[in-house]
Amino acid sequence: MTGMPSPFSLTGKRGLVIGIANERSIATGCAHAFAACGATLGATYLNDKAKPYVQAVTDKLPCDFLLPCDVHAPGELEAVFDEVAKRWGRLDFLLHAIAFAPATDLHGRVVDSTPEGFALAMDISCHSFLRMTKLAEPLMQGGGSLMTLTYQGSEHVVPHYNIMGPVKAALESAVRYAAAELGPKNIRVNAISPGPIATRAASGIEHFNELLDAAQKAPERRLATIEDCGALAAFLAGDGARMLTGTIIPVDGGQHLLA
Ligand code: NAD
Repeated sequence: MTGMPSPFSLTGKRGLVIGIANERSIATGCAHAFAACGATLGATYLNDKAKPYVQAVTDKLPCDFLLPCDVHAPGELEAVFDEVAKRWGRLDFLLHAIAFAPATDLHGRVVDSTPEGFALAMDISCHSFLRMTKLAEPLMQGGGSLMTLTYQGSEHVVPHYNIMGPVKAALESAVRYAAAELGPKNIRVNAISPGPIATRAASGIEHFNELLDAAQKAPERRLATIEDCGALAAFLAGDGARMLTGTIIPVDGGQHLLA
C-alpha cells in the first residue's frame, strides 16, 4: 500500500470555518486540525465586537480571508460564499459550528418556549446549516464535505439543555436529508457530537458543571477536548471518509453508551 495518500491529508483542499469565537471554540480546534493536515482556510466572525478574538485565532492559521457573518443578518452569508467563489472558484469542505437561543427561552421549560425564541434558535442553529449547504453545492462540483456540531441532548433529555434539544434533533435530521439529497453529487454531510466542553456557548447553559461532572464518568474517564473534535473533523473533511455520510458521530469517550 506504499504510495497511498494519507487518509488525513487535506493538502490542496480549501475549507470554510464558521463558528470561531475565541481560542476555546470547537471551531478553533477543528481549524487547527484542518491546517495541520494541509488545508487552506477561510473564516468568519460574528460582529465587530467578536472580530479581535477571532483574528487572534486566524492569525496563527493559513487563513486566506476573514469576513463578517451573522447568519441572521440578510446577505452576510451570501457575501461570504461570493468571496469563496471569487477567490477559490470552489469549496472542498465546510464546518458549521454555531448555535444560539435567547437566554429566557434557553433557561425555561421547552413547553414554555416562545414562538419567536424557538424560531430564532432554529434559524441560527439549524436552518443556517441548510442555507450554507445550498450555497456550497454549486462550489462543490468535484464533491465535498459538510460538517456541523450537535449534542446528545437531541436524543435524550439532558437537564438544562432545554430548547436546544429539539433544535439539535432537527439539525441531525437535516444532516440525514441533506446527505441523501447531495450524495449523488459526492457531497457528504455529517455531524460531530461532542461531550460537554467549556466554551462560551456552553456557559449559557445553566448548571453546565453538572454536565461536565457526568461526562467525567464516561468510559474513557475524561472530558472531550476541542482537539478531539478537530481530529474527527479533519478526517471527515478528507478523502479517507469518502464513504461516510449522513452520520452523527459521538466524540464523548463513550458517554453515549451509558443509560
Ligand atoms: P462557541 O461559543 O465558541 O461557538 C459558538 C459560535 O456560534 C460563536 O462563534 C458565535 O459567534 C456563533 N454564533 C452565534 N450566533 C451566530 C449568528 N447569528 N451568526 C453566526 N454565528 C453565530 O461555542 P462552541 O461550544 O464551540 O459551539 C460550537 C458548536 O458546538 C455549537 O453548535 C454547539 O451547540 C456545539 N456543541 C457544543 C458543545 C459544548 O459542550 N461546548 C457540545 C456539543 C455541541
